[in-house]
Amino acid sequence: MSVRVRFAPSPTGFVHVGGLRTALYNYLFAKANEGTYLLRIEDTDQERYVEGALENMLDSLSWAGIPHDEGVVLTNGKVTDKGNKGPYIQSQRLHIYREHLQNLLDSGHAYPCFCSKERLEKVREQERKKKGTPRYDGHCRNFSQKEISERLDSGETYVVRLKLPEKTDIKFHDLIRGDVSMNTEDMDDQVLMKSDGYPTYHFAVVVDDHLMEISHVIRGEEWLSSTPKHVFLYQALGWEAPIHVHLPNILNHDRKKLSKRHGDVAAEDFRRKGYLPEALINYIALLGWSPKENQELFTLEELEQNFSLERVSKSGGVFDVKKLNWINSHYLREADIDKLAELAIPHLVEAGLIDESNVEKEKDWVKNLTAVLRESIDHLSELPAKASVFFRDEIQVEAGEAQEWFESDELRTLKQPLIEALSELEEWHESTIKKALKPIQKDTGLKGPKFFKPLRVALTGNVHGPDLMLVIQVLGKERVLKRLEKLPS
Ligand code: GLU
Repeated sequence: MSVRVRFAPSPTGFVHVGGLRTALYNYLFAKANEGTYLLRIEDTDQERYVEGALENMLDSLSWAGIPHDEGVVLTNGKVTDKGNKGPYIQSQRLHIYREHLQNLLDSGHAYPCFCSKERLEKVREQERKKKGTPRYDGHCRNFSQKEISERLDSGETYVVRLKLPEKTDIKFHDLIRGDVSMNTEDMDDQVLMKSDGYPTYHFAVVVDDHLMEISHVIRGEEWLSSTPKHVFLYQALGWEAPIHVHLPNILNHDRKKLSKRHGDVAAEDFRRKGYLPEALINYIALLGWSPKENQELFTLEELEQNFSLERVSKSGGVFDVKKLNWINSHYLREADIDKLAELAIPHLVEAGLIDESNVEKEKDWVKNLTAVLRESIDHLSELPAKASVFFRDEIQVEAGEAQEWFESDELRTLKQPLIEALSELEEWHESTIKKALKPIQKDTGLKGPKFFKPLRVALTGNVHGPDLMLVIQVLGKERVLKRLEKLPS
């Protein structure tokens, strides 16, 4: 069997990290099996249509770097199809659903339901009082063909419902959950087609997964309880059901499903904060899947080589920003410095530290700044706060050890020699700076921490920080001399 999988988001406008993980696992599973991974858009809920939402999501997915082989693609800002099983946007497939719906009506697996909203609300209310789970009472299930025709002819509005058999167990096997069974007693006669002529998700998903020859449906566990309905639909349509795989939820610290209320949940939130896509992908890969070896850092290529559904757990993984930060800081250290500086610029511009019109001129400087600071940040939006020491005229000396060094005899001794050596320096580079400082250490006898700690405090106000020679280079000659001259003598 050739493996064909899909990620099928609704165009809500953003890609939730849970959705991104579903996309990733589908992609990885396809890769591991030389299969095809496709992207389909499930937009049958027209009430939830948001302008630009689809483009936004495609943009997030492409930022995350999980390419699909087939489906909806964005080319030069325009949404188009790639592949021969399209269209891949459900709202463009209405004629297809209609045809299959007719088959279900003809075979008696579906029926038109003329119940008004008010009636349904009343039924729901009564059902709720009775036993908790509101279900449709089957009022229109057994209308005669004559009655149906009359109502249709008189133009009554209607929906089409699935006609589930009574008291029947519907069974399927889920690769993660094992055998699942549900009795139709606990299921509703699902609406398949709404009165606006659009199918519901439950109907469209079955038709599309079949026609797009999906072999494995890999999706979030919130769909597990709907799957018996889908399985019944496959039977009713005379089709073979795909293999089902329901991934555990991503949870917050209270072990509730992670939602917008818990802060950043969308891929674009992390992008905006300056997380690198390779870090986010690495992190979410581990939220549910555990590698064989005790390894935590994975490139996408390594994930492709190691991923298997057998190692995806039943229970949900807790989203831990600290761990994500740890992984991101690893990728920040590894990143190509030119690329990182490019990503850093918008953060510095936004914080007002560099002017938009000066960006070209400042590029080299930003590169050095980023090189100095990348080890002390978790994500790029922390850069401006860390960088401000390079922009301020005054330094703020930290209380405690830094303050002691600031007032120390060592610094008093170093002040003049430092000013002299550095003001004479023509080429301002970490290597020349290092060279110029050597003789001072020799002449004053202040070496190691007794030299570097007071110097760092004099220039930055802190005892610890990134490579001092680079800090001096990035601060620039003028600022360094100004700071030295202001020191107590
Ligand atoms: N459109 C559904 C969603 O947005 C997809 C569910 C499925 O993969 O079947 O979650």
